[in-house]
Amino acid sequence: MKRFLACLLTLMLLPSVGCRTESASHSAAGFACDTVITVTAYAPQETVDATLKICTDYDRVFSKTVDGSDVWNMNHAEGAAVEVQPETASLLGLAVEIGAASDGAFDVSIAPASALWDFLADDPALPDGDALSSAAAKVDYRNIEIDGNTVTLKNGAEIDLGGIAKGYIADRVAEYLRSQGVTSACINMGGNVIVIGSKPDGSPWTVGVRDPNGTPENSAAVLELSDSAVVTSGVYERGFDLNGVWYHHILDPKTGWPVQNGLASVTIVGERSDLCDALSTACFVLGEQRSVPLLRRYGVRAIFLYTDGTRSDHSAE
Ligand code: ADP
Ligand code: MG
Repeated sequence: MKRFLACLLTLMLLPSVGCRTESASHSAAGFACDTVITVTAYAPQETVDATLKICTDYDRVFSKTVDGSDVWNMNHAEGAAVEVQPETASLLGLAVEIGAASDGAFDVSIAPASALWDFLADDPALPDGDALSSAAAKVDYRNIEIDGNTVTLKNGAEIDLGGIAKGYIADRVAEYLRSQGVTSACINMGGNVIVIGSKPDGSPWTVGVRDPNGTPENSAAVLELSDSAVVTSGVYERGFDLNGVWYHHILDPKTGWPVQNGLASVTIVGERSDLCDALSTACFVLGEQRSVPLLRRYGVRAIFLYTDGTRSDHSAE
């Protein structure tokens, strides 16, 4: 009888205890991959805080500038084979796949060209045209050889994971939160958003797509989503104005110059943030018409926003 009463008491208490912890949301904010990260989850504070360490740990592996990172080691190997972490090999594998699928519009070997630009400089300047052409000649994802966890860069190729790493890391944060039993969360890594589940009241999360012609607070579209990844590549993220021209960080791999095609941003909505991240950059470079086969192939939704304020939507098929 005592045991029965104890069980009954436990059963009566458990749901309320569980509910209390789950209905409280906690947030953490940090900085990694040159961007602000915010995570809000219906989970204990320690769980949310742990996500920031995941971001900084991966940032150290994928950084171009941290001496001894996987990317640094590959870029300084002068063509020799380099052993990298399995995560780096797998991320590079996806990057090369999207390189092929986009006919080189997304090219993770963009480093020789991207290194000649400093979009955040106080007094920004254009790179030397000849130097940029020679750098662009080295950009070709087909120069990346991956064999298990060994990577060889041929013909002077160098890696810049800036167009895909944040998406990959956001996926890892989501994976961690799910492994901790979290069923409601929102992760934002500088425009790479993942929502887990719905809000605790069952309503979808709302994710704003920034109006490229407005202030960062203005939304051009508000998406209602659950269990989705949303990634935007926009001209406003990183760039500078010089003599009336806006030079931004999404580069045409064939020339090394910023893509000027009337687009202001491309937003991709799908299941995986790494894929959406690579596709948002790829579709920006390709332009809307040439992106359609890629959108179909990967079954993702897209929103194209133009500098003239027009908008074009493609649903996932
Ligand atoms: P954000 O960094 O704002 O999320 P993107 O995902 O579009 O934007 O990535 C842009 C970054 O990707 C650049 O800063 C650069 O590091 C790299 N990059 C630029 N052009 C390309 C390209 N054509 N293919 C692959 N990576 C690129
Ligand atoms: Mg991207």
